[in-house]
Amino acid sequence: MRLFEAIIDANHRAVGGDANAGLHPADFAEALPVIALTCIDPRLNALFPNALALPAEQFIWLRNAGNIITGPMTSTMRSLALACAVKGGREIAIIGHSDCQVAKTTTTVLLDKLKAVGVDRSRLPDNVNEFFGTFGSERQNVVKACNFARNSPLIGPKIPVHGLLIEIETGKLDWVVNGYDTLPASPLGQLPGMRFDSIGDLGSFKNFEMGEMKFPEMKIGDAALPENLVPPVTVPPPPKVATLPPLKITGKIPAPPPIQPRPRFPGR
Ligand SMILES: [Zn+2]
Repeated sequence: MRLFEAIIDANHRAVGGDANAGLHPADFAEALPVIALTCIDPRLNALFPNALALPAEQFIWLRNAGNIITGPMTSTMRSLALACAVKGGREIAIIGHSDCQVAKTTTTVLLDKLKAVGVDRSRLPDNVNEFFGTFGSERQNVVKACNFARNSPLIGPKIPVHGLLIEIETGKLDWVVNGYDTLPASPLGQLPGMRFDSIGDLGSFKNFEMGEMKFPEMKIGDAALPENLVPPVTVPPPPKVATLPPLKITGKIPAPPPIQPRPRFPGR
């Protein structure tokens, strides 16, 4: 059984009342850590990473309103790419949730709410839905996000991209896209014949030869200022910090106990 198959199995058993349900992370060390993209809904704070039966240090958590990806080269995609390349994430899970307020917000309501906080319609792009990536179906939104991530040239072909839905009142997880079944054949992580021609896509990269890109030796976040504009900085010596012991994955992480249904809060 592969990692997310074991996660969902343990989750279902735990939600079904099995007090012994859980995961032995050491059995899946090759697939950890996991990167999850979820919504910003605060009700999710109590669910993760327990719903996946993963230890916190093996759970890299990205969030945006509605767990939306609007294109293969967007800011969220760049964060997913860095989470893989810099933080060593091995599998990606895009996890939508039930009762998502983003899905319930129509364009008219969104414009009214933006206006109420001082954002006038005239300052927004014409196609507000496409711009914010708003959606009506959590399931379709997860499928769309998985397609963008799976076909993004920023994600390596060996990284599975899963799509899941979580029931916010019970913590129960369900498959939407099994990422083990959708690994691309192309070595570039780009499916044959795919084109980037929707919004939020390659943009200025369209006429760019990726193989010829030359990047200056700068750290991410460094500004490219002329030397005479860079103020001198005195860097204090680093404080002495006790060396942390190497991370050991041992024992069994219990899946969450059944979560008591909570009262539904009306959407704001
Ligand atoms: Zn949401």
